[in-house]
Amino acid sequence: MREKDIRYLEKFYQKNKKGRLEALIQSGFLDEEKAAAFNDDLALAPEIADSMIENQLATYQLPFGLALNFLVDDVAYVVPMAVEEPSVLAAASSAAKLFAAHGGFQTAVTPRTMIGQVILTEIPDCQKAIAVLEDEEIEIIQTANQAHPSIVKRGGGADAIGVRHIEADVASGSPEFLILHLYIETLEAMGANIINTMMEAIIPLVEELSGGKALMGILSNYATECLATATCRIPADALAKGNWSGEEVRDRIILASQAATVDPYRAVTHNKGIMNGIDAVVLATGNDWRAIEAGAHAYAARSGQYRSLSKWTKGDNGDLVGELTLPLPIGTVGGSISFHPGAKMAHELMGHPDAETLESIIVSAGLAQNFSAMRALVTEGIQRGHMGLHSRSLAISAGAIGEEIAIVSEQLKQVKNMNLATAQEILEKHRNSRTL
Ligand code: NDP
Repeated sequence: MREKDIRYLEKFYQKNKKGRLEALIQSGFLDEEKAAAFNDDLALAPEIADSMIENQLATYQLPFGLALNFLVDDVAYVVPMAVEEPSVLAAASSAAKLFAAHGGFQTAVTPRTMIGQVILTEIPDCQKAIAVLEDEEIEIIQTANQAHPSIVKRGGGADAIGVRHIEADVASGSPEFLILHLYIETLEAMGANIINTMMEAIIPLVEELSGGKALMGILSNYATECLATATCRIPADALAKGNWSGEEVRDRIILASQAATVDPYRAVTHNKGIMNGIDAVVLATGNDWRAIEAGAHAYAARSGQYRSLSKWTKGDNGDLVGELTLPLPIGTVGGSISFHPGAKMAHELMGHPDAETLESIIVSAGLAQNFSAMRALVTEGIQRGHMGLHSRSLAISAGAIGEEIAIVSEQLKQVKNMNLATAQEILEKHRNSRTL
């Protein structure tokens, strides 16, 4: 059995940026050269930003930080996150530390197969068209691969097709459709552009074979063949919090998981908590978070009802056992990953994991985030911790600058009703006291 690579970063939040970089060097997450070259705004050069989108005016920044103490498949990681919401990094780090002491996260990823679609309409004979398309699978695959030969040279490319018939739907007035799926290995890339090139290239052939008309050819962001699963377990004793015993916390987390399985109103908020962790890493690593969001929520509704993406149960020995699965079609190349300074730094800080490993890290971050939210919710509630961190945002919104931010934030934590008006009052009083 591989030895567990546990590397805790203690009191990281109390250090200044220099101290944080030193801690990362000492624990082996960053080398000295990279730390020396670290540019702490990770900003895009203006000419690059201008080339990335249309009508560009400026760049829009978000804080970039690290969720600490992750142990994923016995390897230690710091997990980069880009996010505007306070408490996400603290919650992920505290859960990760707790689980690291009990074996960390174990993960499994399916082969990274992506799906492209050609949507066909006006098909004269659907059954005949399905038979012809299936018979000509090899020709369809070859045509697709010829459109993007470099991915084949790398060992990937299209390798199978599937055909789905969708009946006419009287209620919505939708006609029948025949949908051709092309299964494509995109290796280290998420593959949207690779797939879209292939799908558009096979349209004439698919139209000819089916006798139908193609409405479009494009990837599906519902990447059901590119799933990542994280599991974790923890003894009930380790869950005690405040006046709650470990068994009570475990049982209440399991109940909360069940509520999120059966009630869509709860499930959406439950899954939002999971996506707090996932989106932040997806964004930090330069990946397409809209694609991940869309796919995750479709997967949550795969039974016909929107449900929790995660599941928490009681193990045979009484442990709390957590599991999270979702589609994670991310890449380590492509898009802006190779040139966005934030994305480059994120991959560097994780030791340049390959795409499968990055999926493992991201799904673990989602499960950690989910655990922290659930544990707080079923015990003291999330507001105590959340508002403590939110107090700094309120102080900034009230106009506090420099050392005023900490002063106003600390005083805000002492009041019963923490809000913007109170923050403004505290700031005003503080400034007046200094001018007296
Ligand atoms: P790119 O178009 O940048 O393509 C990635 C390229 O990287 C490949 O074509 C390949 O080019 C090269 N490459 C180098 N090494 C590897 C490797 N080991 N494995 C695979 N490819 C490698 O990115 P994607 O095709 O991944 O598309 C992602 C982008 O598309 C994102 O920016 C996304 O936002 C955007 N997008 C998303 C859509 C969506 O619906 N989600 C729709 C349209 C665009 P080569 O082999 O030629 O060197």
